[in-house]
Amino acid sequence: MPVFRERRDRFLALTDTHRSRLEPIEWGAPGVTACGRCDYCKEQVRLHRDLLMVAGMRITRRKKLMENGIFTIDALAQMPDAADSVTRRLQEQARLQTGTATPDGTVTYTDKTGAAKSISYSVLESNSLARLPGRTRETSSLTSRETPCGRTR
Ligand SMILES: [Zn+2]
Repeated sequence: MPVFRERRDRFLALTDTHRSRLEPIEWGAPGVTACGRCDYCKEQVRLHRDLLMVAGMRITRRKKLMENGIFTIDALAQMPDAADSVTRRLQEQARLQTGTATPDGTVTYTDKTGAAKSISYSVLESNSLARLPGRTRETSSLTSRETPCGRTR
């Protein structure tokens, strides 16, 4: 019941403010939350090049970015490299999606319908892949030694 009252009050406040306005409500209007997933939201996201276009973007992260004046996928791609790794990853994603980053590599493949597709990727320094040791001769000599797994030599 308290949850219902809270939701009901919020809804009434929302509709009251809306009815007192002359112009229709706009996407991203302060105080109006959007789910970001329904058909209406999807359309608005594309129309406004909303941060939700970035693959892996969460509503909470989007809110934080918007508080810092970043509202679009393009603004995220263009801003200087972010210090925290989560934002940095989303930023690289935004750059790849907007075609403003030079990917480290591109893989082409044929999908189920037989259409040729390609995926571009970038390896970030903070990513654990970057911590893998490079290929050395030591690796190949290990296999020739045939050491049984899990036993000490
Ligand atoms: Zn929605």
